[in-house]
Amino acid sequence: MGKHRIFRHRHGHDGEAGCHDESGFDCREVHKHASDMVDGEMPKPMAEKINRHLGFCPPCQALVNSVAKTVGLVKSVPKARCPESLKASILKKTKSSK
Ligand SMILES: [Zn+2]
Repeated sequence: MGKHRIFRHRHGHDGEAGCHDESGFDCREVHKHASDMVDGEMPKPMAEKINRHLGFCPPCQALVNSVAKTVGLVKSVPKARCPESLKASILKKTKSSK
């Protein structure tokens, strides 16, 4: 029991005919590796395969674009937005205004 629940993406364009390239590369692979690809943590041959797939698969293009946007946003946010000293002075102000 439960074995058939592993692949939950049975809807959408996944697995549709015409969405595999000649090397058998399909959308599920793109979904799996999209974040690695955006991070640049992907072997070049793999990235080239994915790029080729993106060339004829607009849904996967959209997916990689949205992952790239998300990762880009996350990376552009400085890690320490609120230094301890600033936090302390805000706390002080809040306390003294009471
Ligand atoms: Zn695709």
